[in-house]
Amino acid sequence: MNSVILQTPIDYLKGVGPNRADLLRKELGIHTYQDLLNLFPNRYLDRTKYYKINSLQRSNAEVQLIGQITNFKEVSQKRGKRLVATFQDETGSMELVWFRGQKWIKDSIKINKPYVIFGKTNFYNGKFSMPHPEMELKEEHQKSLRSVMQAVYPSTEKLSNRGITNRVLNKIMQQLFLETKGRFSETLSKKQLQDLQLISKKEALFNVHFPKNQELLSKAQFRLKFEELFYIQLQLILKNLIHKSKVKGFPFPIVGEYFNTFFKSHLPFNLTQAQKRVIKEIRQDLGSNAQMNRLLQGDVGSGKTIVALMSMFIALDNGFQACLMAPTEILSVQHFNGLKEYCNELNISIKLLTGSTKTSERRKIHESLENGDLDILIGTHALLEDKVKFKNLGLAIIDEQHRFGVAQRSKLWKKNTSPPHILVMTATPIPRTLAMSVYGDLDISIIDELPPGRKSIKTVHRYDKNRLNVFRFIRDEIEKDRQIYIVYPLIQESSSMDYKDLMDGYESIVREFPLPKYQISIVHGKMKAADKDFEMQRFIKGETQIMVATTVIEVGVNVPNASVMIIESAERFGLSQLHQLRGRVGRGAEQSYCILMTSHRLSSDSKTRLETMVRTNDGFEIAEVDLKLRGPGDLMGTQQSGVLNLKIADIIKDKDILTQARHHAKDTLKNDPSLSLDNNKVILDTYRQLSKYKNIWNYIS
Ligand code: ADP
Ligand code: MG
Repeated sequence: MNSVILQTPIDYLKGVGPNRADLLRKELGIHTYQDLLNLFPNRYLDRTKYYKINSLQRSNAEVQLIGQITNFKEVSQKRGKRLVATFQDETGSMELVWFRGQKWIKDSIKINKPYVIFGKTNFYNGKFSMPHPEMELKEEHQKSLRSVMQAVYPSTEKLSNRGITNRVLNKIMQQLFLETKGRFSETLSKKQLQDLQLISKKEALFNVHFPKNQELLSKAQFRLKFEELFYIQLQLILKNLIHKSKVKGFPFPIVGEYFNTFFKSHLPFNLTQAQKRVIKEIRQDLGSNAQMNRLLQGDVGSGKTIVALMSMFIALDNGFQACLMAPTEILSVQHFNGLKEYCNELNISIKLLTGSTKTSERRKIHESLENGDLDILIGTHALLEDKVKFKNLGLAIIDEQHRFGVAQRSKLWKKNTSPPHILVMTATPIPRTLAMSVYGDLDISIIDELPPGRKSIKTVHRYDKNRLNVFRFIRDEIEKDRQIYIVYPLIQESSSMDYKDLMDGYESIVREFPLPKYQISIVHGKMKAADKDFEMQRFIKGETQIMVATTVIEVGVNVPNASVMIIESAERFGLSQLHQLRGRVGRGAEQSYCILMTSHRLSSDSKTRLETMVRTNDGFEIAEVDLKLRGPGDLMGTQQSGVLNLKIADIIKDKDILTQARHHAKDTLKNDPSLSLDNNKVILDTYRQLSKYKNIWNYIS
């Protein structure tokens, strides 16, 4: 089938007409034949099964019955009236109810004639009823039954109100297959069909809309899902390849003195295998001619900072500057303090730039950046200001990437005439399959190993009424010279309720742990940066034993002596946030604990989140559960990437197919980068087709 025909506006399909076309456009985004063809069913109904009225269950499920209407009556209600029909089969009777379209129903439905009705049942006052049933004369129903499984299409209230019921959609779809004779051309290569034993496009489209049987339906779905994911992956990988060939990076050919000296004489510990592997991957990127765009994922505490530092050394070894940007002041300060010592040992100049850097100091930084005296700049968003100009920025690293947007990444890009290499780091694990789709334009490195000797954190769930025990536990730990975090939810920065909870909590802690024996820090978002820092430093230095805080401490803070993390109202936090918070402890050699405090009333999702936290410390496992609970919609980056616009595949349920599709796309491009082999002509054509009609660009920001 010529794909041009599929671009015919939907108005031209027999049985559609201008009104329906308008509705289809507005409600379902169906503009063309092609769009209609790609309206895939949500599910299928078994239309071979008929229920009897006396065997109906109160489960409010959709059922199909055979029987007849014996009478109609109109019942007045608050607004207007409803039409009620008595419907009977040989086992009993029930009511059919209409709130709209009553005249049409009364005129067109015949009394005492056998009908097949279909719909959801309600149970009220000891009687079953069915509002707005689909009705078809039994005779016609038996004739028209083309498929034992009937497709149920996505719909909207407006559509069904305006008479475009599922049955109508089915009819329209039938018409589409009639007009096009179902001749849809193949969109995958012969080799793909063979290798994966896929059914043809034609057969797949037919069976997804009008399944002949369950087996063919499964095959049809698999083939269409594979195809959809394959072309998205092809697009992402192509984009990445084009980027690499077009955007030249600064080649860093050497690993020089800074890197080697540090590695030989100053490295405070042995790198883990995973750290070594990742540094190698980065090193390879930097040594190539292409600009690096790499995402480094590693669970909290996996040691990303040292990787960042050593990467910066490579830049310096090649005569370039480097910068490291972190999302909060606290974190920037901590990075700066941590890295400063190593840099001093190696005679590398390093400075900190944040919102609270004094003007005079700021001026000096600007100057030394521009004349090249400054090697490494650490800081917050302040780095992005226009005034911050580098002499030759070779590498920009972004820590905790999820706190920054894509826009900020690209702003860093523009700091130079030609873009620096970019390394973004995140401790929020993204399931690999999702990462492939969301960050398709980035290469991915993963640190999947914690430094040796870490004891896994013991996590427990406690109810508020156990608070006294928890206090006792805190006291014991402080006795052992450990430090404690107590975190309160601050879901909205401005929520005064949350601040009240925090302050109440703080006061009760102060009462329970009085001065002078106990010293307590408090940090929250409403404090001035200098005060926050002061309190933070007291805790870092061990002058205070307890840190009461909001989630401002969530990201990256490193106090190895802190061994207990208490999370108040833990049911209000998301899984990834809980995991991030827990990652603040377990950084030293001591056994660490995480205590999740909640009230008694928990939703089932909250329960799942808490159980997951108690069960595992594995960030990737947690990310998978999170993805299942929330769906991809809430996960960072997904909005931009449009993984939600998938027509038939599901990023969570179909991740095996996604992996397969990605391998195939990679292989295809590896063997034939320009898709010019005869074999791949159909792939190239389809790809062009998709780009031409913009279908594929929907997926990509
Ligand atoms: P994150 O990946 O969360 O940013 P950090 O880089 O802050 O983790 O590292 C966490 C802690 O682990 C730091 O105290 C760091 O010095 C230490 N660390 C990192 N790598 C190793 C290693 N290979 N062996 C021992 N300790 C390490
Ligand atoms: Mg970190």
